[in-house]
Amino acid sequence: MSRIRLLPETVASQVAAGEVVERPASVVKELVENSIDAGARKIDILIRRGGISFVRVIDDGSGMDRDDALLSLERHATSKIRSASDLEAIATLGFRGEALPSIASVSRFRLATREAGAIAGTEIIINGGKIDIVREGGEAPGTQVEVRSLFYNLPARRKFLRSENTESRKIEHQIHLQAIGHPQIAFTFVRDDRLVFQLPAAANLNDRIRDLYGSEMLDRLLPVNGEAFDKACPERSQRIDIGGLIGRAGVSRQTRDQQLTFVNGRAIESPVLSAALREGYHTALMKGQYSVTFLFLNIDPTAVDVNVHPAKREVRFRDPNGVREAVVRSIRQTLESGRETWREKFSAPTSASPEAAGQPVADLTLRPPAIFPEVAHRELSGLGAAVGDRGYSAVGLVPPSVVAPNRDDVVAGVDDPGRAQRPISSTAANSQQFQIIGVLNKLYVLMENADGLVLVDQHAAHERILFEELRGRMEEQGVPTQRLLIPQTFDLPPRDADWIERNMSILQKMGIGIEGFGPNTFKIDSLPAFLNTSDPVHFMQRVIDDLKSSSASSSPMRLGEEMIAKTVCRHAVKANDPLRYLEIEKLIQDLLACDLPYCCPHGRPTMIQISHAELEKKFGRKV
Ligand SMILES: [Zn+2]
Repeated sequence: MSRIRLLPETVASQVAAGEVVERPASVVKELVENSIDAGARKIDILIRRGGISFVRVIDDGSGMDRDDALLSLERHATSKIRSASDLEAIATLGFRGEALPSIASVSRFRLATREAGAIAGTEIIINGGKIDIVREGGEAPGTQVEVRSLFYNLPARRKFLRSENTESRKIEHQIHLQAIGHPQIAFTFVRDDRLVFQLPAAANLNDRIRDLYGSEMLDRLLPVNGEAFDKACPERSQRIDIGGLIGRAGVSRQTRDQQLTFVNGRAIESPVLSAALREGYHTALMKGQYSVTFLFLNIDPTAVDVNVHPAKREVRFRDPNGVREAVVRSIRQTLESGRETWREKFSAPTSASPEAAGQPVADLTLRPPAIFPEVAHRELSGLGAAVGDRGYSAVGLVPPSVVAPNRDDVVAGVDDPGRAQRPISSTAANSQQFQIIGVLNKLYVLMENADGLVLVDQHAAHERILFEELRGRMEEQGVPTQRLLIPQTFDLPPRDADWIERNMSILQKMGIGIEGFGPNTFKIDSLPAFLNTSDPVHFMQRVIDDLKSSSASSSPMRLGEEMIAKTVCRHAVKANDPLRYLEIEKLIQDLLACDLPYCCPHGRPTMIQISHAELEKKFGRKV
């Protein structure tokens, strides 16, 4: 029985008849997807001159008999769809009834195929859509398609192609997508007679990523929490399985090229997913940077429409908010899951055993006493001053790291020259032992671990701590507010007024006392206590401008985070604020307790490590 059916006209009309073949990369995409559907274990792709002059895809899949081979070249033929209802639940890569005939109509096309048990194969040659030759051929089992002189009969289309290099890169990217989506299939890519890569069949995604990008890349990725999420939308609860690998906090690219998302095995581009990634990585990446993600979503096929784009690059979700929330949540959980191994980097070398805690470590006693200069006489209120007049202490909102130590602590610090030479390894709340060496340039905390030297940016660390502290307060009971002496009213253009009205409750939670005072007029009578502004109206204007643009598709709580991140910088320990030892120790402990300790809320790293190996190399001890 023929596996490939002719689509009834009604179904055919539902198939977007748009342009499937845009460029050589789309030819490669369609041919490779056909090979995958045919159960190939091995796919070889060869291109010449950007794929414009030649593309060949060979697979070891099931192959076709003569009838199926001919049918596959008829318009609207497909092996996937037998009725309109099948369109509803396309769980495979989809249907490409248009693909082969479309390609054959704009190229010099040759298809050779043979089923595994068949005595003879079939060869079909088509030029510009016209079948020239159909004959028996003695090919190996599987299917081989050659596409020459793409768009030779459509010079106008050919003019839209980019340089051969650019087209080649697009093809390579396309093969990366397919190879990452199907690690179990072996891929070979040859460009202009040069082998670009040869990927053996891999057991899992990790192996495929290592083969494709190297083990260094793999080390920078975290496995995504494989949990399934049920969207709490009772009447149409939907199950989403999320898996794959994503970059650790701070691992980023200037472009979206390594931000890959797959829905039901298909590489797709989706504004919903892009926004979810941006939101999931909020405060974990620097502005303008893109995350590195190999994210796989499995979702009920009826909950996603793959036919938005003729080449099926885009999808439409039935419940975009549910998908977005599930992705954001799993990204956050995954990023937080990297914390344990990260924390371990702060551990003192094993030589400083727990028994040694509090005991002098010989070589450290040689340390000059003034390792924390200028700290001795400086009162901790100096930190409060950095926070500003209406700082935390004024409203009892003292972040953990600026809690003033009691008098004993001060004495135990470098105030007392005798005790200043105490060893400064100590035990954290989670019984983790640090080895703090000192502070460089009043900014970098130097620590020793088993691998070498750890540097912590105290400003970035403090920003992160403040940020999470304030966010916690916002989520729990709202940010403490500070009443204005004189409430102020201001007018806004209708669209901004509309935005305020929609986000009124979240603004209030953020500590902004705002209410309507006329059609497009608002009254503001209090501001977040941690804020230090003399012009509330100007501040509101900035909040609206900043948040309106960044919030188009993110959750309202993210607005608050954004605002805190924008303001927290000014209140964190300044780069040149000297800290006492106990404060530094507290800072490290508080940092380690953060959800995303790896970077400040603006995405700058809080810690870097310089390994013994790097030092040895620099000192010429090792080459
Ligand atoms: Zn920052």
